[in-house]
Amino acid sequence: MTTQVNTVQGRKAASDLGRTLIHEHVLVGFPGWFMDARMPAFDRREAVARVVDAFQELKGHGVTTVIDPCPMDLGRDVEMIAEVSQKSGVTLICATGAYVEDMGIPYTFNTLEVDQIVECFVKEIEDGVAATGIRCGVIKIATGDGKVSPYERKILTAAAKAAKITGAPLISHTENCSCGHDQIDIACGAGLPASSLIVGHSDGRDDPEYQKSLADRGAYVGFDRFGLEMLIPDAIRMKNLKALADCGHKDRIMVSHDTVNCWVGSYNGGDPADLLKTLPNWRMTHMFEHVFPELKRMGMTQEDLDHIVVENPRRWFDEAAKAQGKG
Ligand SMILES: [Zn+2]
Repeated sequence: MTTQVNTVQGRKAASDLGRTLIHEHVLVGFPGWFMDARMPAFDRREAVARVVDAFQELKGHGVTTVIDPCPMDLGRDVEMIAEVSQKSGVTLICATGAYVEDMGIPYTFNTLEVDQIVECFVKEIEDGVAATGIRCGVIKIATGDGKVSPYERKILTAAAKAAKITGAPLISHTENCSCGHDQIDIACGAGLPASSLIVGHSDGRDDPEYQKSLADRGAYVGFDRFGLEMLIPDAIRMKNLKALADCGHKDRIMVSHDTVNCWVGSYNGGDPADLLKTLPNWRMTHMFEHVFPELKRMGMTQEDLDHIVVENPRRWFDEAAKAQGKG
């Protein structure tokens, strides 16, 4: 049976998603973003127009689908995501799930039992977010640097159970290339195959052994912060991506930029616009303008790259759907 994926505009066959970027944001606002009254007021109409332009430009590179894995607690606005999808013609997929404890909003889920959190995630996938009718297609999980807090473990456990019930895949946030194996352990502990999970931000350190160890277990490895060169140069990301493909793991590579196309509030006390000025390549088209041409110069073929942006996302949805209810 063909896997059906929830997009913000209704269900779509996984085999029809086409060229897909797995991790880009329409809008992000850290908890309490509206409290920094020094920041420019949020002009929704202007923001939508600007973000639609960015997605239309991306569409010019043949990208037909983008996943916005914004968790519930980072200013997620599924109606804005749906509006951007409708106006740009790019299929967008939104997420349920929660962020890392120290940058998220842990109060409510701290007070709920695991199964009550499962119910929340399942409801957002099966019925939609609040009264919008917009259904989430993926579940976001997140862990902090070096260790999984009890809160994060609870969220991951609930997310894995919700994935098993709904067949929606898991996509993660990690810090400093740590805890990827803990995330896989928790997913597998709930009876999911490791291939239901993209271990996100696994490109943040020059650590090909770590990346290979995730792929060896069957998880998808997120090289999903291209252009964010304050963390690590893209040259190192490309070297490691190619090394992973060369050792037989082309099937496990996922690429994206983790761009924030509309960033409300402040970031680390400053205006995000100032940060963006220092990152000229942190744009959704960077992959096709610079990264893919360079990977080709390094010896990868167009076929390899199409495989990574078309076949891998489709297979991730398929493998998660296949695990639904089993075991
Ligand atoms: Zn992100």
